[in-house]
Amino acid sequence: MVLWNPYRMMKYFYPGLVWDMATGDRMLYITFDDGPVNGITPKVLEILEEYKTPATFFCTGRNVERDPGIFNSIISSGHSVGNHTYSHIKGWYTRNSDYYADVEVASRFIPSALFRPPYGLIKPVQAGYLGQFYKICMWSLLSYDFRPDVTREKCLDRVLTKAKPGSIIVFHDSIKASANMLYALPRVLDYFLQKGFTFCKIPMNNQSIN
Ligand SMILES: [Zn+2]
Repeated sequence: MVLWNPYRMMKYFYPGLVWDMATGDRMLYITFDDGPVNGITPKVLEILEEYKTPATFFCTGRNVERDPGIFNSIISSGHSVGNHTYSHIKGWYTRNSDYYADVEVASRFIPSALFRPPYGLIKPVQAGYLGQFYKICMWSLLSYDFRPDVTREKCLDRVLTKAKPGSIIVFHDSIKASANMLYALPRVLDYFLQKGFTFCKIPMNNQSIN
């Protein structure tokens, strides 16, 4: 039986996007989507600080506008940031001009050449257009931290068993995902650091990846 794998399909149709980092070394790239969120993002920063681990935060413009102080802490802690649109819209269901305008508004709050489309839903024409200005960064591994049917143990186990060198892993610094994410994150860091992996941030300079 052939299973339809949306991830593999997407990768096939969007080969120009970043899906993992080309590396032979034991490097992992942790990313957080949908922040910054008061009460959650600061806890993530504390955990990352404790493990001396850099990461990448794909923020929405509206959240940065609401909590600029937390966004500044992300930057001053040395992490990478990326544009995740202003209002977290789905490219597939949005007129191109509206989508680009939303990304442009977000760019006033988020100085970065990295972009990640919310839900991964971006039309090829939108990816082509935005790809002129941004490195469009997808992912290799979703932790499913946001899914109510996934327990924190399952979320952790998924990352521990599926991450491999060069993986770009997605967590969310959102309210919905926080219970699973805050449980899994330190354990993921602990496990892979003990195995000799290095955690890296995705470079914000759009020339220097892949
Ligand atoms: Zn998102």
